[in-house]
Amino acid sequence: MTTLPAPVPGQKKLGLVIDLDLCVGCHACATACKEWNTGGHMAPLPDFNAYGDNAWGVWFNRIHSFEEGDGAGARTVHFPKSCLHCEDAACVTVCPTGASYKRAEDGIVLVNESLCIGCKLCSWACPYGAREFDADEGVMKKCTLCIDRIYNDNLMPEERQPVCVMVCPTKARFFGDLGDPASAVSDLVAARGGKDLMPELGYRPVNQYLPPQRSRMAAVLASVQPEPPPADGEQPTGLLRWVDRLLSR
Ligand code: SF4
Ligand code: SF4
Repeated sequence: MTTLPAPVPGQKKLGLVIDLDLCVGCHACATACKEWNTGGHMAPLPDFNAYGDNAWGVWFNRIHSFEEGDGAGARTVHFPKSCLHCEDAACVTVCPTGASYKRAEDGIVLVNESLCIGCKLCSWACPYGAREFDADEGVMKKCTLCIDRIYNDNLMPEERQPVCVMVCPTKARFFGDLGDPASAVSDLVAARGGKDLMPELGYRPVNQYLPPQRSRMAAVLASVQPEPPPADGEQPTGLLRWVDRLLSR
């Protein structure tokens, strides 16, 4: 079995913060992730029966959509999910070969494909379903936080972040050091009450989710309900204008 690096005070913990109020479920992050990573660090990411029934393949980032509530207060919540780079990563400790490992210097959880024997223990151990088995190569793969972008000196500094963060049209995704209490992502988590996914399991995910705020949705509904639908050629108002503004950022 594989050991995790010893915890060090002030350790860097790179991860994502995802705002569930802003995610519109467009899949831009998922498709950009697939496109970048199929030619990147863990390439290629295969697809099987891609244009037929029961298509499946390797996707590091998947979007799940849920309906919540009834009547006027009902809403759809879109929930993007990739590896959360857990501090107590069960996927690492179960690995019999050392293929799965967590980096001491920044907390990123990776797979060394040359050591992976494809036993899938890690995917059974991960409670978030974040491991992806490459049936072509017989090895496990996963989100790397775009390790081949974030440390890539050939990219402009503003492009050295995960591609999912770069492409999100609503700016629902943020990347940074969650081990630094003064970082922008830590401030955001503190201000919005960021949450661990399934904290009761004790794996201490680094990635954080900003929960949907019912008050914000109520304000949007209040602004849209009295207004008639726009006639052809008119500027959108209310909710439509809000969505338009969001997608135009
Ligand atoms: Fe491992 Fe799953 Fe946690 Fe990622 S989310 S570090 S794959 S246990
Ligand atoms: Fe380790 Fe590979 Fe087995 Fe996962 S599938 S536990 S990475 S050897």
